[in-house]
Formats: sequence, structure tokens, C-alpha cells
Amino acid sequence: MGKPTGFLEVERKTVAEDNPLERVKHWGEFKVHPPESHLNEQGSRCMDCGTPFCHTGHLVSGMASGCPVNNLIPEWNDLVYRNRWREALDRLQKTNNFPEFTGRVCPAPCEGSCVLGVIEPPVTIKNIENAIIDKGWEEGWMTPKSPQKRTGKKVAVVGSGPAGLACADQLNQAGHDVTVYERADRVGGLLMYGIPNMKLDKKNVVLRRVKLMEDEGVKFVTGTEIGKDIPAKQLMDEFDSVVLTTGATKPRDLPVPGREFKGVHFAMEYLTGNTKHILDTEFDGSLPEINAKGKDVVVIGGGDTGTDCVGTSIRHGCNSVIQLEIMPRPPEERQPDNPWPEWPKIYRMDYGQEEAAAKQGEDPREYLVMTERFIDDGNGNLAGLEIVNIEWGKDENGRFVPKKLEDTRRTLPAQLATLAMGFLGPEQIIAEELGLDTDPRSNFQADHGKFTTNIEGVFAAGDCRRGQSLVVWAINEGRAAARECDKYLMGVSQLP
Ligand SMILES: Cc1cc2nc3c(=O)[nH]c(=O)nc-3n(C[C@H](O)[C@H](O)[C@H](O)COP(=O)(O)OP(=O)(O)OC[C@H]3O[C@@H](n4cnc5c(N)ncnc54)[C@H](O)[C@@H]3O)c2cc1C
Ligand code: SF4
Repeated sequence: MGKPTGFLEVERKTVAEDNPLERVKHWGEFKVHPPESHLNEQGSRCMDCGTPFCHTGHLVSGMASGCPVNNLIPEWNDLVYRNRWREALDRLQKTNNFPEFTGRVCPAPCEGSCVLGVIEPPVTIKNIENAIIDKGWEEGWMTPKSPQKRTGKKVAVVGSGPAGLACADQLNQAGHDVTVYERADRVGGLLMYGIPNMKLDKKNVVLRRVKLMEDEGVKFVTGTEIGKDIPAKQLMDEFDSVVLTTGATKPRDLPVPGREFKGVHFAMEYLTGNTKHILDTEFDGSLPEINAKGKDVVVIGGGDTGTDCVGTSIRHGCNSVIQLEIMPRPPEERQPDNPWPEWPKIYRMDYGQEEAAAKQGEDPREYLVMTERFIDDGNGNLAGLEIVNIEWGKDENGRFVPKKLEDTRRTLPAQLATLAMGFLGPEQIIAEELGLDTDPRSNFQADHGKFTTNIEGVFAAGDCRRGQSLVVWAINEGRAAARECDKYLMGVSQLP
């Protein structure tokens, strides 16, 4: 365990972040690199509780409780406390292919179920995970490890997000010849063209890992859409197995009057365009085609994607930004119907809201708001939004329905609006070509744990199977699908 009395002596302290007013001047990551002493101390708070929940990764009330990749958290907390970093890295890599991604972007359900969290703030598990892998890279411990023997079997992975990357990594280590197909011009899926650079550095973190995988033997083919540039059936002919990890990329639209006005965009058009621009121009300070400079911005949707739109708009130099959320403001503390070890559904300020608050003086989110229509300037350019407050009630069938509070109807000025209201499952091009079964939500039908579709030799994992989720679940699914695929190819699998 960590220090027996650590949790009594040391307070929880997360890694420091750059001042919001300074960090919005650039696109770089903003977490400060902590000294080792900070991490040793925080690791010492792990209390060897005996029955740790932090690594369970079960769904409780529909949400992840504990780490979905079952990271051996108490073990590496202890090793970090004792300054045994190399061993901590070995332990971490047993369960997680990409701790440098989760250590930066995971919402850390592990911390929501940390036993210390019953009486005190939980251990800073995510910070410790990130520090272990960052040290591994800095020390030169992350070197290519190619499999000793090749099996001669060929696998195509379609989609290079975290599910596809984890699957490819595992299958390659099992000795198979793996080719990853990606329709975008860069590898990474939403790690590359969803989550912005300030949260997850593309060149120094995402592409560094991709390069290591290439050095280990994984082949990447970018700019190639399966089902369009290459028929999916051709992959089935040329490869022994195909794993689909195409993500849940169909965005939810807002079909209200004025949706067609210039200046109303899906969040992903905005975020992808921005990241591509800053990478293509090597951060030269120029603005992408869709930008927020000098504009009043309204972000519709209160989740992670909306937060990324807020942070991006501020970096563009918007005039103002407001984020609309249809649900109520969460409570400050856990409620009786949301007990430990469930994921705590509480009010949080994420980085984008902190930055907006530093600039504008308050949290940019408005809760219990519905957008009624977009308004233009007379020439088809967005000029504002008509919104109305709502309260939630139940209809005669017991279903939750919004009731509009008419006296709250008002307009907000806006020259840019982004729609960040979630996703509606995977695109269907491959499913239609192959005749894949889908579930009632249009996700590719394959059971968790098996990952087999109705087509022999074709597997599905990640958001295209479970719907829009988290990076850590994508890694969980990519790893497990690799094991099932390996079993299919070889009859038996040694993969974890
Ligand atoms: C803006 C945004 C921010 C997010 N922030 C976080 C966060 O902070 N933390 C977190 O844990 N999760 C976050 N998520 C969710 C997380 O990114 C996803 O759950 C995760 O990336 C899913 O991984 P995946 O591999 O299943 O799919 P994806 O990452 O979506 O990758 C799928 C890839 O498949 C490619 N593809 C699709 N069809 C084809 C085809 N026919 N041929 C070739 N390639 C194809 C796509 O181009 C894409 O690159 C965020 C999501 C968004 C949209
Ligand atoms: S991957 Fe996420 S849930 Fe697992 S230990 Fe890391 S931060 Fe926690």
C-alpha cells in the first residue's frame, strides 16, 4: 500500500493548470508538469482499502463505476509513492495501451468509486496515471516492441480512433499482420479531430504513439474510406478478419426554423476544421474558415463537445460565448439517489467554462433552455437565437416532457452557433454493403465480450457498437475485440 497514514496526513491536490487568461492565448496543453514529490505524496494517500472499487469498471445505474480497462490502480499508486516508476509503468501497460490519452482526457470514473472518497476527497488517480506514462516517454522507456513470431494472418481494422488503435496494437503484439484504414488525412479518430489540441496534444502525444505502433509493424492507410474508396467486401477477400471501429459519427441535428442560416454548424465541423487548420499551418496564428473571432457564439449542448467549442471560441477571440443546456444544473454534492460508488452527478466547471468565466466573469452555461428558432440578418446570415426556458414534467404515460415557460421567451445575439447535442450512431455505408445487423439505436449489433457481428470474421468495437462513449471504453472494447479476433484466427488466444 501507499503510506499507512498517508490519507490522514496529505490532502488531495490535483496537478496545477496554467492561468485561464494566459492559456487561452495558445493551443498548447495547459496542465503544469508536476514535481515527482507531488506525485509521491498523492500516491501515498491510497489506503490499500482491501476491496478497491477503483479498478472494477462495472456499469452502475448505467454509468461507469471504476476503471473500464481495470487498471491496477492501488499497485501503481504504491509504486509511485515508493519512487519505483519503471515498475509502475510495467503495471500500467498491462491493462491500458494508451495511458497518455486517458491520463489527459478520461473523466476518471475510478476516482468516483475510490473508497477514500466515501469520507475524504479521492486519490488523484488520473494525474498519477498520466505522470507514470509521461515519465516513461521522457526516460526513453517507451521503445518499439515487435512480436517475436508472425502468424501469417492478416487483419484489417477500419477506423483509427482509440478502439481501432487499441485493437491494432493488441493484434500486432499477437503476431498478426495489421492494417488500419482511416478516411481522414491523419490517424487518431476523435483523439485527433474531436478533442482539441489544448486537451490532448496531437503531434507530441497522439502521433508519437502512432509512430511507435508503426515502428512495431502496424500499417496505417489514411485518406481511404471503406465502403467508398475500397468496398468492404474487398477487405473481407484480402484479409483473414475485419474489425470495424468506425465510431458514432452521425451528429444529432436541431431541425428548427433557420437551421440553414450561414453561421449554424455542427460542432464537429467547427472542431475538426480548427484542429486541421492549426496542424496544417503549424500553429501560425491564422484562423480557420469557420471561426469565432469577434463573434457572439452560442454553443447548444452542455457536454464535453460543447465545452470544447467554448474553449475553441475563446481562443479564436470571440466577443462572447454562451452554452445552452436543456437539463437542470446538477447539484453541488452527491444526492441520496446517487450514492458512492456511482459516478457522481454533480456540478463541475470544466476547462472551457473556467476560461469563459475568467474572461466574462461567470460560467457561460444557461440551464433548462430550449432553442426555438435561429434568426438571420435579412441576408441569410445568423444574427441570433430565440430561446425559452423550460421545466421538466411527466405526461400521461409517465414520460418526461419539457414545458415551455412562455414569459421567458427571449433572443440572444449570435453570429456563430454550434450544435453539440450528441451523436446518433455510426454511419451505415459499411453495414448496408455487408448486410450487417444493427441494434434499435442503429449501432452495429455485436455483444460486449464477443464483439462478433452476424457476418463471420467481422467484428465491431468502440462507439460504432456501443454508441458515443468515452476513450477508456473504446480502449476496453478494442482490446477485448482483439482477443476475440485472435481466438477466431488461431483457435485460442493469449491476449489479456
Ligand atoms: C468533441 C468530442 C470531445 C470528446 N472528449 C472526450 C473526452 O474528453 N474524454 C473522453 O473519454 N471521451 C471524449 N469524447 C468521446 C471519445 O472521443 C469517443 O468515445 C472515442 O473516440 C470513440 O473511439 P472509437 O475508436 O470508437 O471512434 P472514433 O474515435 O470516432 O474513431 C472512428 C474513426 O473511424 C473513421 N471512419 C469512420 N468510417 C470509416 C470508413 N468507412 N472508412 C475508414 N475510416 C472510417 C473515422 O474517420 C474516425 O477517425 C469526445 C467526443 C467528441 C466528439
Ligand atoms: S483510464 Fe480513466 S478510469 Fe481508468 S484509471 Fe485512468 S483515469 Fe481512471
